Amino acid sequence: MTGQNLSVGIISTDKFLAAIIKEVLGHIGIFFEEVDQKTSENFPCIILPTHNEADFSIASRLCNSVENILIFDEEFSIKAFYLALGGFLEYDRSTNKLKTPKLSLEQYELLEKIKNCFSKSDLPLIRKWYWPKFADACFVSTHDIDSLDPILRISNLKGRIGFNWLRFLINLVRKQLGKEIFKIILDENRRELRSTFLFFPDYGNSYKDFLYILKLLKQLNFEVGLHGSEFSYYDRTQLETEKKQLEKILEGNLKGIRHHQLNFLPPFTWRYQEKAGFIYDLSFSYSTDFGFRSGICFPYHPVDIIERKRFDLIELPTSFMDWTVLYRHMNYNEAWNTLMELANVIEKLHGCFVVNFHNAYQNKDFPLIEKLYSKLLDHITRKNYWITSAGKCSSWWLRREKTKLNAFLDKKTIQGNISSPLPIIIEKDEDIIKLDLKKTDFVISIKD
Ligand SMILES: [Zn+2]
Repeated sequence: MTGQNLSVGIISTDKFLAAIIKEVLGHIGIFFEEVDQKTSENFPCIILPTHNEADFSIASRLCNSVENILIFDEEFSIKAFYLALGGFLEYDRSTNKLKTPKLSLEQYELLEKIKNCFSKSDLPLIRKWYWPKFADACFVSTHDIDSLDPILRISNLKGRIGFNWLRFLINLVRKQLGKEIFKIILDENRRELRSTFLFFPDYGNSYKDFLYILKLLKQLNFEVGLHGSEFSYYDRTQLETEKKQLEKILEGNLKGIRHHQLNFLPPFTWRYQEKAGFIYDLSFSYSTDFGFRSGICFPYHPVDIIERKRFDLIELPTSFMDWTVLYRHMNYNEAWNTLMELANVIEKLHGCFVVNFHNAYQNKDFPLIEKLYSKLLDHITRKNYWITSAGKCSSWWLRREKTKLNAFLDKKTIQGNISSPLPIIIEKDEDIIKLDLKKTDFVISIKD
């Protein structure tokens, strides 16, 4: 193929910083190529993580215009990004600003700068869309199953939240173990929604109920993940044992995990999870706060800031948990407004909305939480979300990330090939073309 290459070039002698830039560009769907002194093609825009004479001189030779060389660290802070991806975003809890994904907003500022480089060269910018079928955002519902047995719930609730002893005793006498899970299954089945249930590998006396529930979830195509016990977040052997134990009962592989109480020790917990073979984690958020702990509203690869490497594992950013509502003694309107604040920002930024509703609160003892979940599902199904399980969301994100594109502009025709089918968006000035590319080779004519 001949003509103008339409990818963004990245130049960096520091491979860790290059990985950070790739991660940042990947979320917003930019097609990029890593280039060096051996490269001979020209690029409409080249990004350097930091200023470096050697890299800058290569960029000056390869970029259409010196003005289109973006030094990331001069516009944003590369350190802020790798600390955030490494689990160390500086956060002032008193301001409660986590509901604004600070770094994702900066990703969009970067996108504007890239668009500007293309526009100055009179070139269209081709990007990957975020979600299948041009959905505005993604919604992942998850349920931590702390207990199947009402007896075990006392320790969770005592002293913290109003507790209905009478109902507790009635449940105990009737031995209705795990009945809220059936309620969730029925409700989600009616809405054709498939969520992810996180289980411990053991529920003591409720073993028979546990087996039955797992079997049912599997038959109905719900996803099951591991709910890591209290200490497995810093004990690799324990974590591996728990994974094997639940996989044996489930007769299948587990892709994901959320640690009980959101216990986490970066980067070690991610290291242990990755070594144990998990594809994604759902734990990295604050239990007492809503919002985005890393300031990012997309699925992301965390980084190991000690070893200076990007994990293969994906973090799905959980931004809402029902327990936080109870802990903060919120009323319905306050809780609903929080949910809508998160939904609005996620819809606008095309992010991923991951919520955690425990089975333990889907009953008459917690009418506020029951109503909240039901109303949230009403809202989500009215809007243009891709509703999916945590496992499918992470598989999609990984496939999207791996998809390569070669695209060249020759006169008014874009010719190219894409390595796997994907929805793409072509932007030039005010014009936007959306295409769900099915074929690997394509030819697109654009207007003047
Ligand atoms: Zn838990």
